[in-house]
Amino acid sequence: MTLAHGQPLVMIPGPSVVPDEVLAAMHRPMPNIYEGEIVKLTYRLLEELPVLARTEHRVYMAISNGHGGWEMAITNTLSRGDHILVLEVGKFATAWAANAVKSGLTYEVLEAPTGLAIDPEAVRERLVADTERTIAAVLVAQVDTASSVHNDIEAIRGALDAADHPALLMVDCVASLGCEPFEMDAWGVDVAVAGTQKGLMVPPGMSFVWASPRAEQAHKTADLRTGYWDWTARATSSEYYWIFCGTPPVSHMWGLEAALAMLNEEGLEAAWHRHRVMAEATHAAVDAWAAPGALRLHVDNPAHRAQSVTLMETGSVDANALRATTQREAGLTLGMNIQGEHAAGVRIAHMGHVNPPMLLGCLGTIEAALIASDAPMGASGVAAAAASIAGALDPVNSRDASAGWGSDVVAADAPAGGGAADEPAGGGDCCG
Ligand SMILES: *Cc1c(COP(=O)(O)O)cnc(C)c1O
Repeated sequence: MTLAHGQPLVMIPGPSVVPDEVLAAMHRPMPNIYEGEIVKLTYRLLEELPVLARTEHRVYMAISNGHGGWEMAITNTLSRGDHILVLEVGKFATAWAANAVKSGLTYEVLEAPTGLAIDPEAVRERLVADTERTIAAVLVAQVDTASSVHNDIEAIRGALDAADHPALLMVDCVASLGCEPFEMDAWGVDVAVAGTQKGLMVPPGMSFVWASPRAEQAHKTADLRTGYWDWTARATSSEYYWIFCGTPPVSHMWGLEAALAMLNEEGLEAAWHRHRVMAEATHAAVDAWAAPGALRLHVDNPAHRAQSVTLMETGSVDANALRATTQREAGLTLGMNIQGEHAAGVRIAHMGHVNPPMLLGCLGTIEAALIASDAPMGASGVAAAAASIAGALDPVNSRDASAGWGSDVVAADAPAGGGAADEPAGGGDCCG
């Protein structure tokens, strides 16, 4: 008999878990869209979203999923016949370029060996060889959600600079924004793309494209521009209506407002830190489970691992059966492997609204399913994950702890807001 009758947990790499605060914020009657609160909120989001991507420049918001953000980025900056260099560590950068082929672009793929991040030196060499400067843009995902490989965007910018190549650097941050450091201006990114439904904790339906001054310059001569996606109308029209080229996504904006308030309260650096702790705990669990021919991490090098998602290769263990067991028998939905040609696997998302009880519940459920199916297994992944998280926990000392049963008096010398235990552990000093 199934044990799934509790709060279901969906740990797939998008859409991620949406906090109740966000769901509640979206559940409102439709407003007047010609004046008042929603108009003010729109302009506030246009100011807050650049802070999230660490840029002083403009963001464009659209009603779409990530694919729409991709298309907005391409059509606003490139022209028919332009050639693109795709840096691939999984699936997503090539998918982005393949969409652009239909707009009349060509592309080539520089693929990293499986499980590895892009080698910036290989990028430099390819760009140096492009003596005619035919490459108009370099496309890369900061985190590839299929492989769970993370790319070093700053180092890739270094490769463009070392080759003195003018191509636009376009970065897909759909699966990394809010989950790991991203510094658009400091890293010299020309175009960044993200969506609501991964690290930003809002249902799918809005995408964002941040544009550097170089991207805005390219926009002036881009001939792929279309009516709906066009930046110029969205940025320069005096009419509010053109910011979204039509009716604004009011419910999503309320959800985004709530999600950004949560991120602000936590602090962006603290959120990055939390994601790192969740990722390292997941890696520790899979490393402990690992057995020859069975489970293992897809990404060997810790420096190449994403903070938002982990691909666990399953070897001789049937990945589909494992996912079906956790879902049907225990209420836990895991991501499937979408790297067709590679080994069988399961993806564990730890992006957005995820804390230790959720992650440990997820890992514990996987472990129970592995034991139930007699899967070959090393040691307990749950024990390893708990030990990993313990390293980041600040224990509350007994003087500051409440005794319970109504003794909610905060110790006189504890900081306002409930004491040191409420501070993110080591927040901020992890990502500098
Ligand atoms: C999810 C994802 C996308 C695509 O987003 P959709 O909303 O499905 O169109 C693009 N890039 C990356 C890295 C993703 O993880």
